[in-house]
Amino acid sequence: NLLSLENRTFVVMGVANRRSIAWGIAQSLSKAGARLIFTYAGERLEKNVRELAETLERDDYLVLPCDISSDEEISKTFKTIKEEVGIIHGVAHCIAFANKEELEGEYLSTTREGFLLAQNISAYSLTAVVKEARGLMTEGGSIVTLTYLGGERVVKHYNVMGVAKAALDASVKYLANDLGQEGIRVNAISAGPIRTLAAKGISDFNEVMKEFETNAPLRRAVTQEEVGDTALFLMSDLSRGITGELLHVDGGYNIIGLMKN
Ligand code: NAD
Repeated sequence: NLLSLENRTFVVMGVANRRSIAWGIAQSLSKAGARLIFTYAGERLEKNVRELAETLERDDYLVLPCDISSDEEISKTFKTIKEEVGIIHGVAHCIAFANKEELEGEYLSTTREGFLLAQNISAYSLTAVVKEARGLMTEGGSIVTLTYLGGERVVKHYNVMGVAKAALDASVKYLANDLGQEGIRVNAISAGPIRTLAAKGISDFNEVMKEFETNAPLRRAVTQEEVGDTALFLMSDLSRGITGELLHVDGGYNIIGLMKN
């Protein structure tokens, strides 16, 4: 069964609550038999993550802190993972952050600090994580990150986060090339808009959602579970020939040009 993740361990980074895309991914990987390691940022979230992890079938999960803005903390987290489980087979990176004030108005109002913050947390963090994860992926594996159409095209108000996603998308390609020879694949899922904590930061999210539901070929929103199942495909051997790819899970929205309603 090429879709099975039995006897494999995956690190899922970015569960904040039950609405998180990372939680959708965790559930799909878990159903396929994977052992999961969760990382969270800030003590405030630990309880949420533990409560969610408890609902999974397997009880051999780990929950570890990992603020992705600190190389030291990332290194410490993966050191603990190495001690506890040894080998891992993949990482789901579901993390992004930008200042709320910069997710409205003109892109041009982005500050240097805001630009660097978004790049640091939303783009560089993937590279920082892969540096540490690589040493634990001795049997090869799959790394998946989450991106958005706003990195490829102009999406009103996505602004500095769009530029960070463009850097993330390019990182996926360079990392895929660096790690291909080691049997490690790196791909991105470009999800359609989903109501999560992070989405709340985007001004006019309701309008974005409405426009999406009206014009996406599937004429409806996509769900965390749908993104989760695509992540499962990318983590499994079914996708063994795919790397450096940006796969849209967006009901087809990205193919649409101008629609007259
Ligand atoms: P979410 O708020 O549930 O998840 C974002 C996570 O990032 C949170 O768990 C938060 O703790 C974490 N994070 C922020 N700063 C961090 C730091 N310094 N260190 C470690 N973790 C940190 O929202 P989500 O929508 O599930 O976001 C997950 C990913 O999906 C993000 O990359 C987001 O850009 C992407 N995405 C979301 C949508 C959407 O509409 N929700 C669409 C496309 C892509």
